[in-house]
Amino acid sequence: MGRLAGKVAIVTGGASGMGAATVKRFRAEGAEVFVADIQEDLGGEVAKETGATFARLDVASNEDWISLAAQVEKRFGRLDVLFNNAGVVGGENTVDRIDLAVWNRLISINQTGVLLGCHHAVKLMRRNPGGSCGSIINTASTVSYVALSHDIAYSATKAAVRNLTKSVAVWCAQAKTNIRCNSIHPGPIDTAIFSHAVPAGTDMAPIMKALNAMAPVGRMGRPEEVAAAAVFFASDEAPFVTGAELVVDGGMIAVHPDLP
Ligand code: NAD
Repeated sequence: MGRLAGKVAIVTGGASGMGAATVKRFRAEGAEVFVADIQEDLGGEVAKETGATFARLDVASNEDWISLAAQVEKRFGRLDVLFNNAGVVGGENTVDRIDLAVWNRLISINQTGVLLGCHHAVKLMRRNPGGSCGSIINTASTVSYVALSHDIAYSATKAAVRNLTKSVAVWCAQAKTNIRCNSIHPGPIDTAIFSHAVPAGTDMAPIMKALNAMAPVGRMGRPEEVAAAAVFFASDEAPFVTGAELVVDGGMIAVHPDLP
């Protein structure tokens, strides 16, 4: 029996990177999975390859969430796990050169998108046959603790996800819902997101080299290493874990700058 046998899950941003790795792992652990993403081609491929279901979802759209919730309810009559993982970077946006279009885009995807996911998941999970229960996992970042000066919008939205998670966790516990909500804080993980952070045509080699040198373990993380953390939060092995944060960063934020 897999660790998620019998569970129904939604993975946002499931077409790529950590989301795709989590879809694969959740399927391998026995869950039914909806790959929810704006990238229909890639998301469809992940779904086909893993036996999951693709659903087009823009996390910033309440209408899209309403339609996905209806689809999940019609097909399985329950939702056990939401991995609220879709997110985007803003590129160069600093306090002296703000770009309101970038700021508003990141707030709507990284922050409002996570809020909408929590809202619709809680509604579905409270109606689960056999009683209210479920696990919501939000992808924050190490940037929730230590800020990027060059991407103020990303830093602000990922810090918001950390505390939004705790508000949801506490409300769900106090309302006796048996729904847990936790956040994962990845450090540098080897995914496509870094190529979106720089202008097209940028030589990625020096950037990847610097990213690989950031953590004391001397390499970037792999998407599968984040998927493993998501399985723990999603599983029945964590019934007393809510409002918690799991940093997956190879020790990056544990290290204090040393003397030369
Ligand atoms: P990725 O670019 O490989 O995957 C992100 C996915 O989100 C893509 O499939 C994309 O299509 C989807 N997406 C973007 N906007 C969307 C929207 N509006 N609606 C639905 N889906 C949308 O990147 P990744 O590194 O796997 O990122 C996953 C999450 O991890 C993000 O929230 C990111 O901020 C966070 N994160 C990444 C790192 C890292 O180093 N890679 C570190 C910390 C946190």
